[in-house]
Order: sequence, then structure tokens, then C-alpha cells
Amino acid sequence: MGLLFRGIVWFGLYVAFALAPLTVAMLADPIVADRGFALELGVAFGFIAYALISAEFALVSRLRAASEPFGTDSLMQFHRYMGIAALVFVCAHPLAAVPERLELADFNPLQGGLAARAGAIAFWLLLLLVAASLLRGRLRFAYEGWQLMHRLLAVLIALAMLGHVLAVDRYTSVLPVRVVTVVCVAGFLLLLLDYRGLRLLVLARRPWEIAWNRDEGGDTRTLSVRPVGHRGFEFAPGQFAWIATGRSPLTSEQHPMSISSSAERLPDNSLEFSIKAFGDWSRETIPALLPGTRVWIDGPFGAFTLDRAPGQGFVLIAGGIGVTPFRSMLLTMRDRGDRRPVILLYAARDWSRVVFRTELEALAREIDLRLVWVFEEPEPDWQGERGYINAAMLERYLPAPRDHHQYFVCGPIAMMDEIEELLARAGIPRGHIHSERFNVV
Ligand SMILES: Cc1cc2nc3c(=O)[nH]c(=O)nc-3n(C[C@H](O)[C@H](O)[C@H](O)COP(=O)(O)OP(=O)(O)OC[C@H]3O[C@@H](n4cnc5c(N)ncnc54)[C@H](O)[C@@H]3O)c2cc1C
Repeated sequence: MGLLFRGIVWFGLYVAFALAPLTVAMLADPIVADRGFALELGVAFGFIAYALISAEFALVSRLRAASEPFGTDSLMQFHRYMGIAALVFVCAHPLAAVPERLELADFNPLQGGLAARAGAIAFWLLLLLVAASLLRGRLRFAYEGWQLMHRLLAVLIALAMLGHVLAVDRYTSVLPVRVVTVVCVAGFLLLLLDYRGLRLLVLARRPWEIAWNRDEGGDTRTLSVRPVGHRGFEFAPGQFAWIATGRSPLTSEQHPMSISSSAERLPDNSLEFSIKAFGDWSRETIPALLPGTRVWIDGPFGAFTLDRAPGQGFVLIAGGIGVTPFRSMLLTMRDRGDRRPVILLYAARDWSRVVFRTELEALAREIDLRLVWVFEEPEPDWQGERGYINAAMLERYLPAPRDHHQYFVCGPIAMMDEIEELLARAGIPRGHIHSERFNVV
């Protein structure tokens, strides 16, 4: 089945799920009295919010089949937007339904009957969850603590929502509506069980070990990992995997990393990851991983790959550590004898921040690769490109015919937003621009 078709099917399923409780409630319609349009509209908002929140976890639960057509970072963005949309529907639910009777006390989780209390709890927890996610960077909230809180709040919200709809007992007084509302939340909890339980048990049975751990300069280390007692997995160049380090995958930290080695299998089925020191894990745990240390790898994931973007040639635009998926793409092209032309525009502060320089220069002699270094703060005698990548620079390097090439961008978020826009303005069809955001959460 083609990716586009699969994408349409998954999106259709998502919309059907989002409307399922509302549709079943409308069909079952146990309420005889005419309660007025505003009240019914408010109830409809409530049902939509209920389904959107229940579906949120599915978007980020590493369901490979669902993430393939869209890419993990797009699903993550969608998860964000739908979380905000759910909050808007939750706010609109009482406002539309009973505006004249609404009092501040109705939002007090310690007052009223079970339905009111559960509704108020779900509302405040959802507000807290959305605010903490939007402000995480500004509040300098550590990722791991935030992630734990996010999951805990999500489970509490799901249970409070379920308590609210069942206790209101109007539409849910009939069996079909009860069933659909319970199934929504049960699906959410089952996915969580799979994600935090079963999947980790499977991972624990397929360990990997560090083969070597190399300093690449530019605050970056490359880890080579090989499977122990199994054959590892195949991947497409540009895809990523989750690395778990620690005593077991059940207790460990997991981080997403692009696979930086060739997708043509090495004899020992090993993989490489090139990791820049950002925070505690990458700065302290990674350098301490000695050969023989056990790690666990969950992958491959992602849609950021040459293999899904047929073109006459490629333009790769990297900012800093965003070069890692491109290393994999270029090594794979070399190993496959792929002679299509590639331009790599690699932006960094200066030479000291560049990783894989020698390797990339060697690749430029082996495949049809043109390297363009763009330095933000170059040495005074630097003759090449300087500053940020801009429209004039793209004009100098974009190959013709532009729409016969595929364009891949990976780097800091601000740079990616800018370059996606510049490429679109330069006439590149949006479908030919592919991006991978490392900072998806
Ligand atoms: C698809 C993808 C591919 C990536 N590939 C690479 C790569 O090839 N090389 C590389 O150096 N970095 C890569 N990253 C970024 C990398 O995952 C983070 O830099 C790393 O997790 C930082 O962890 P830390 O604890 O050292 O730093 P922290 O200071 O704790 O985190 C820095 C930021 O990284 C993100 N982050 C941290 N932990 C996680 C996590 N468990 N899951 C998701 N995001 C997290 C958060 O936004 C956080 O604010 C990739 C990210 C994604 C999403």
C-alpha cells in the first residue's frame, strides 16, 4: 500500500475516532426533552474533547505503522496542536452548555457531586499539562521530570474524564454510549501498558552492546552498537531509533537518535549513533559507555529518508549536529554505488564545531557530492560562505531543474523554519522539502 494512501487511511481513522463518541451519542439519543441548541452544542464539544484527549497518546506511542506515512516529528507536532484543541473544546464545553448558570464554584474540584468534581479535576489537570508543555523550555523544566509528570497527568485526566461522563449519566445512560466512552479511555490505557510495559520487555530480550565509543570533536561522540544474540534490524538512511541506557530498558532513560551509519548492513549488523553533548545524559552517560556495556535500541522510526523521496539528486542542508542523518544517507549512497548528484550545505559556527570533516571530504571523492561549508563566525581569512544560509546563497547552489531534486533539512528549529520558507519561496514544491526536528518536545 502506498504511503500516501496509508496516510489518508490513518487520518480517516483518526477523524472517525475523534467523532465516534459524539456520533454514537447522537444515534443513540436517549434524551427525549428538547434542551435547546446551546446545551447540545456544549455536550458535543465535551464529547469531541473526550475523544481528542483519548487519542493523544496514540500519536506519540511509537506505533510504527501509523508514524511511517507522516514522520515522528509531524505526529509530535500534531499531538501538540490537538492537545491545545482539546483544551479549547474543554473550555467551550461548559461555556456553551450552561453559560447563564456557570459560576466560579463549578470549577472547584472539592465542591459539588461526582460529575462536577471529576469534570473540574480533568479541566485543571489538562490546563496544567498544556501550560507545563508550552512553558517547559522557558521554565527550564528538566526533560525527564517533565515527561514523568506529563504521563501521570495524562492518565489522571483520562480517568477523571471517564468519571465525569459516566457520572453525568445523561447520554451515557444508554449502553452504546457507555461502551464507546469506556473503550476510548481503555484504548489509551492499553497503549500506555504496551508502551511502558510489553514493548520494554521485548526490548530487554534483544540487547545490544557498545562496540566502540569515539570522540569526533565538536562535543560529539559516535557510538557503535552491535546486537547480542539477534540480528538487529534494517533501516532506511535518515531514520532514527530510541537508545536506552542503564540497568534495563524498564528502568532506563530513552533518547531518540538518528542512525548515522550506512543503511547497507555491516557484517556484524552494527549501527552507529553520533551524539552531541546537550544535557546530563549526552554529556555524562554517553562518554562513560565502555565497550561491552549493554544498551537497548528500539527502531527504526521516521520518514526522513532518501528511500521514500525519489529524485534526480538531493540537496541536504545541515545545521550543527543535524548532519547525523546525512552522514547515513551519504555513506549509504556510497555503499549502494548511487551516482546521483548531492549538495551538502553544512552550517556551523566555525571549523571547531564541524563533525565528520575528513570523512565527508573523502566521500566527496567517492560519490557525486559537493560540500559547501557555511560558517557563522569563521576565521578572518575564510574565503567561503559566511553568516546564515539565506536566499542569495540558495540561489548560488540550488541545482536545476529545481523540482526534480529532493531537499532535506535538519538543524536548529529556527534555521529549519527559515530554510523551509526560503526553499518554498525559491519554487521548490512543498512535497519535495523534508525535515527532521530534533527538538520535537
Ligand atoms: C528524531 C530525532 C533524532 C535525533 N538525532 C540526534 C542525533 O543524531 N544526535 C544528537 O546529538 N541528538 C539527536 N537528537 C536530539 C537528542 O534526542 C537530544 O539532544 C537528547 O535526548 C538530549 O538529552 P540530554 O538528557 O543529554 O539533554 P537534555 O538537556 O535533558 O535535553 C535537551 C533537549 O533534548 C530533548 N530531549 C531530551 N531527552 C529526550 C528524550 N528522552 N526524548 C525526546 N527528546 C528528548 C528535549 O527537548 C530537551 O529539552 C535527536 C532527536 C530526535 C527527536
